[in-house]
Amino acid sequence: MIYGYAQLGEDNEALKLFKQALYAGMDVNDFTFSSVIRVCGDCTLLELGKQIHGMCFKTSFNSSSFVGSSLVSMYSRCGIIEEAYTVFHEVPLRDRGHARSKEIYEKLEELGEEMEKAGYVADTSFVLRAVGGEEKQQTIRYHSERIAIAFALIVFPHNDRPLRIMKNLRVCGDCHTAIKFMSKCSGRVIIVRDNNRFHRFEDGKCSCGDYW
Ligand SMILES: [Zn+2]
Ligand SMILES: [Zn+2]
Repeated sequence: MIYGYAQLGEDNEALKLFKQALYAGMDVNDFTFSSVIRVCGDCTLLELGKQIHGMCFKTSFNSSSFVGSSLVSMYSRCGIIEEAYTVFHEVPLRDRGHARSKEIYEKLEELGEEMEKAGYVADTSFVLRAVGGEEKQQTIRYHSERIAIAFALIVFPHNDRPLRIMKNLRVCGDCHTAIKFMSKCSGRVIIVRDNNRFHRFEDGKCSCGDYW
């Protein structure tokens, strides 16, 4: 029934039933969880979605690929790309997960080529490890924010909404330059919130004016 309401877009009804089922101590299966999580993809319900995510952990439904893919889509739709990416890696999405990782790296390669054509040169001074030039470039190209952006571009290839990335550390100088090129090459607005400030990348420029 919960699934039925969710399918019909009767979100409130679906959530009400879900809560009743929980209070009544009824067994809720992974299919029900995934239906409810889909409902929470509506951003106003993100907090509730996070609570349900927590419940999935307790009930170990988080290892269900049904629930996992719903969580990925919920976080992605709400623009919480890093979270979506984390769940994506936690959940055994079987072969699809593996194929997707490959897809992400291919997307990064493809973007990298376009970026270089547009004039991007990796600044390897941001990598402190003493490794050769070629290897340094590889290490930098795959900083987590770039992987998250590639992931978002694959999951939402035709979406006009900005891509939102959260980062706990300050975005490094080379990634800042790279993301400017990524916004230019992909034609997308990319918003990065790091621990220091908010960056809105559009058409090769950043709102911070490179002072951050
Ligand atoms: Zn970086
Ligand atoms: Zn910036």
